Amino acid sequence: MLLSIVIPVLNEAQTIPLLLDRLRDTLREVTWEVIFVDDGSTDETPGILERATVKDERVKLLRFSRNFGHQAAVTAGLDFANGDAVAVMDADLQDPPELLPRMLALFQQGYDIVSPQRTSREAETRFKRWTSKLFYRVLSGMADTQLIPDVGDFRLFSRRAVLAIRSLREQHRYMRGIVAWLGLKEAILPFERKARAAGKTNYPLLKMLRFAWTGVTSFSAFPLRISIAAGCILSGAGFVYLLRAVYLALWTTTLVPGWASVVALQCAFSGMILLALGAIGDYVARNYEEVKNRPLYVVTEARNFPLPQRSVSRAVILYDLATPSGRVLIDDAQHTLPIPAASPSYQPLPGARA
Ligand code: UDP
Ligand code: MG
Repeated sequence: MLLSIVIPVLNEAQTIPLLLDRLRDTLREVTWEVIFVDDGSTDETPGILERATVKDERVKLLRFSRNFGHQAAVTAGLDFANGDAVAVMDADLQDPPELLPRMLALFQQGYDIVSPQRTSREAETRFKRWTSKLFYRVLSGMADTQLIPDVGDFRLFSRRAVLAIRSLREQHRYMRGIVAWLGLKEAILPFERKARAAGKTNYPLLKMLRFAWTGVTSFSAFPLRISIAAGCILSGAGFVYLLRAVYLALWTTTLVPGWASVVALQCAFSGMILLALGAIGDYVARNYEEVKNRPLYVVTEARNFPLPQRSVSRAVILYDLATPSGRVLIDDAQHTLPIPAASPSYQPLPGARA
């Protein structure tokens, strides 16, 4: 049985050697491969990963042409993983490798998905814990898919769960939602999430909020419908107010002071309309990006992978591959393109789909 471990990496030079040591220690009794997806690192990470692939052929590497984001990197790793079970974890040791054997044991009991759940969130600010709790509650209320609170992207999947995930190729990816949407048999395993071993988070507040919004828009059309409810309530209130004004004007001697309420209502309504327009605009923009059907990522280099057996959809895979017969280029249609010795530039063969 082969265990694949998919690790998205962005500027984690300090943690990778520690992570590899701990993986090797923990997985002595398991056949494993680890797939690092370098998501456009700009520090010493690329060199460290390259050396690791030379020393140990169980260490595999996919390199993106630029930063495509954590979710795209996880997607690429799952696309290339060959294991009977596939784990996804952070490179920063917040997800302890020592939990993998227990996750594997649950997988062997027949679970398709094993999800470690954070019981304590050491080193996370109270603000982050509070907002995260609120977000899970709000999203579960709005979406049909039920997210499990305090479960992140650290998970283990069976091969068939990976095949199922691969078939969801949407552009705006929210893995936790995708996994919940599949509805496969899932085991929850409580664990204590530690602080980062080194370095700093790649998810500052603004990026976190954007990610949360992707979660909402990918799995719920509720924000588009809020304006219907708000519109009903506000126009109802406006109508009642109108009745009162008419009553006061016709049957009493009270003068109805108008301008303050007009200004207040005007502000409230314009604000609501702009908000609703903004939400609609955002869904339209996402629709537009989806319709363009662009690839999810561009791989420019792969190390320690055998010749790919199948083509991956909605992805560009252009990489050098060192084979016993020399260096070759593979294009995304799985054509093998010999590199002409004299020419340093890449020339597609006639008929090849580059
Ligand atoms: N990461 C990535 N691309 C990105 C951002 C993050 O590959 O654009 C990786 C990062 O190296 C780490 C994992 O995704 O292995 C989770 O990121 P991080 O630890 O910064 O997030 P946090 O745990 O603080 O939410
Ligand atoms: Mg982290």
